[in-house]
Amino acid sequence: MAFYDWETETMPLEVLSGLQLEKFRAQVGRVYRNAFLGGRYRAAGLVPGDIKDWDDLARVPFLTKDDLRENYPTGLLSGVMARVVRVHLTSGTTGVPVPMVYTAGDIEVWAACMARSFTAGGLTRDDVVQQAHGYGLFTGGLGFHYGLERVGACVIPTGSGNTEKQLRIMREWGTTVFTGTPTYALHVGEIALEKGIDPVRDLGLRLGFHGGEPCSDEMRRRIDERLGYAAHGGGMRRCYGLTEMGGPFAMDCEYVTGIHVWGDHYLMEVLDPLTLEPVGPGEPGELVLSNLSFEAMPFLRYRTGDRVTATVEPCPCGRTHPRITRFLGRVDDMLLVSGTNVFPSQVEYVLLQHGELSEHWRIVVGERKGLHTLRVQVEPRPGVALDESLVALLEGRLKESLSITCRIEPQACGALPRFEGKAVRVVDERSRE
Ligand SMILES: [Zn+2]
Repeated sequence: MAFYDWETETMPLEVLSGLQLEKFRAQVGRVYRNAFLGGRYRAAGLVPGDIKDWDDLARVPFLTKDDLRENYPTGLLSGVMARVVRVHLTSGTTGVPVPMVYTAGDIEVWAACMARSFTAGGLTRDDVVQQAHGYGLFTGGLGFHYGLERVGACVIPTGSGNTEKQLRIMREWGTTVFTGTPTYALHVGEIALEKGIDPVRDLGLRLGFHGGEPCSDEMRRRIDERLGYAAHGGGMRRCYGLTEMGGPFAMDCEYVTGIHVWGDHYLMEVLDPLTLEPVGPGEPGELVLSNLSFEAMPFLRYRTGDRVTATVEPCPCGRTHPRITRFLGRVDDMLLVSGTNVFPSQVEYVLLQHGELSEHWRIVVGERKGLHTLRVQVEPRPGVALDESLVALLEGRLKESLSITCRIEPQACGALPRFEGKAVRVVDERSRE
């Protein structure tokens, strides 16, 4: 087991907690200089010196995506713009983009977090990495790139798309590691088979670092199998991050027991989204993160909207930093269908238990005579026919899991849309009145 920063990654939890408190207190002082945040903290009766122990954490106001949008582009800057060396933005397809700006020191912290993450996942300097997360305003491309180079691996910056070229480069350059969204990884595996390329026989991929969208255990197993990672003695590692926290920063280690969140740079809380009180150990709640190290635009107690479970139990890899053990969907991905809460991740969980189904599926929410309807469109794996008994079985399982009736609609192989970035899983056809 190799480490990038053994001393930090294995520090006892009590020592880590002390370091986090010290850094959190300093960050409160830093963001207090920002007019908007300082104003909000003063309104809450908080001055930086008030943070004495973890009981005082609850006094620190939360930050939400709406706050970020209202203060776009630089209203939440805690440092000075002259020291900013890089800007990233989310795509902003649903409104104002979320910005993140970095000092040179912030970029250093980010690259070091990613280097630790890749090393924990098993990357070495001998690897040849095809980096297929998109470059540009999206944090994935450059975030991965800097960390990979930091480890000393050879990086081929293909970016996403152009799948046939990706496959050609994999063979020409002996690529051992592939990155990109989980959806894109599966797509590459699918095209390979179509072109008569068997990833186990013809490619040498042993590790995949895939992030940018949620990935269930079943999906991970499929990627391991389809791209040949498992056959070559490695596997897929999930990556987690978000633009608001500077981009991707956390990863599965080789034991895949949960995603290690580097506690010296990020404070993780899991809270009940309604009461905003901490949930019990291992219970699901909303992930709330604080950036303990960034200088330019650190966000404290940011409500990520991700529903997770987490643990601080020891990991067999020896790293002490807390782990996110499960992703249960986005709080705002929740669909309200006839008064019932439905998470797309629940649907995926049920579908992918069945080997007859491919990973292409989508939910269509509609309306008939004023009532909501829920349909799930699925595709079989190539060469498999979906019979009525399987459809009935799936409908039963979904009803059990969602507590709502839904209809399964089998589609022909290749009928559902394919995605090179994040998959779109929900089509909402209800009128917006
Ligand atoms: Zn571990």
